[in-house]
Amino acid sequence: MQVINSVTEMRKVANKLKKQSQILGFVPTMGYLHKGHLSLLARSVKDCDISVVSIYVNPIQFGPKEDLKKYPRDIKRDIKLCKEQGADYVFIPTDEQLYPKGYMTYVEVKGLSDGLCGKSRPGHFKGVTTIVNKLFNIVSPDIAYFGQKDAQQALVIKKMVKDLHMSLKIKILPIIRESDGLAMSSRNVYLAPKQCKDAVLLYQALKKARQLIIQKQRDSEKIISQMKRLLSQSEFATIDYIAIVDADNLEKIKQLKAKTKVLIAIAVYIGQVRLIDNIIVKVD
Ligand code: AMP
Repeated sequence: MQVINSVTEMRKVANKLKKQSQILGFVPTMGYLHKGHLSLLARSVKDCDISVVSIYVNPIQFGPKEDLKKYPRDIKRDIKLCKEQGADYVFIPTDEQLYPKGYMTYVEVKGLSDGLCGKSRPGHFKGVTTIVNKLFNIVSPDIAYFGQKDAQQALVIKKMVKDLHMSLKIKILPIIRESDGLAMSSRNVYLAPKQCKDAVLLYQALKKARQLIIQKQRDSEKIISQMKRLLSQSEFATIDYIAIVDADNLEKIKQLKAKTKVLIAIAVYIGQVRLIDNIIVKVD
C-alpha cells in the first residue's frame, strides 16, 4: 500500500491505472476510521481492482462554531487500518494544495441540501459537494462508496453526479452500528462514558418510529412526538431535528402513504456532541 500526499502524484497514479483499464474504487473519509469506514473499503476491495481511501478533514464543510479544530485525528492508526483492510493507496492531501490562496470555485446542489442537516449547518453540503467533486477529479474513480449513515449527503452526492454528467457509479452501503445500536461515528469518541447510554436513544427512537409505522400509525407528527418523548428521558439530549421525509427527495411527509419509502432522520446533541442517525421504512 502506498501513501500519497500530493495531488499531482495522485493524478499521475490514477491516470496510469486508467490506462491499464483497472477498475478504481474510492472511499472518501475524514479519517479517525472505524468499522463503518472499513465496511466501505472492504466492499471496494471486493468489487474493484484498485482501492483508494482519502483522508482529509475538509475545512469548508465546517461552520465557524463547529468542531474543525478538535475533529479527532490519528493518521498512523488510519494508515495501518487501511493496509489491513486491503487498500492500495491512501491519499492524504493538505489544505494548501486543495484550497490555495485565491481559491474561488464551489459546487452546490440546491434544494436537496437545504433541509435537515443543511438547515442546521448552513454551507455544510456546499463544502461536501465541492470537496467530493475535487477528489473525484483527482482520483478519477469508477465507483465511489458512501455510507447511508449520512443519508442526506448520499442523496446530494448522487444528485450532483447525475446533474453534472459525471461518469462514475455511487454505491451507498448500510449503517454499521455498535452492539447496542449506536451508529458508528468518529465523533462518538467525544462522548463521556455517562453519555454513551443516552446516545443509544437515537436508534431506540428510530426503532420506536418503525414499530409505530408497523402498527399502522400514519401521522408523522404523532410518530415524532413519541420519539421526542423517548428522548426526553435523557438529561444530556437536545434535539436538533427529527424528520419524516420521502426517502428519494427529502420532501416532508405529513401522512404516510402505502407503498412509499420514508426516511426517518434524527440529529441530537448529546451534551456538546451532535449525532445523526436514520432508518428507511417501507410503508405497507
Ligand atoms: P466521514 O469520515 O464521517 O466523512 O465518513 C466517511 C464515509 O463513511 C461517509 O460516506 C460516511 O457516510 C461513511 N460512514 C460513516 N459512519 C458510518 C457508519 N457507521 N456506517 C457506514 N458508513 C459510515
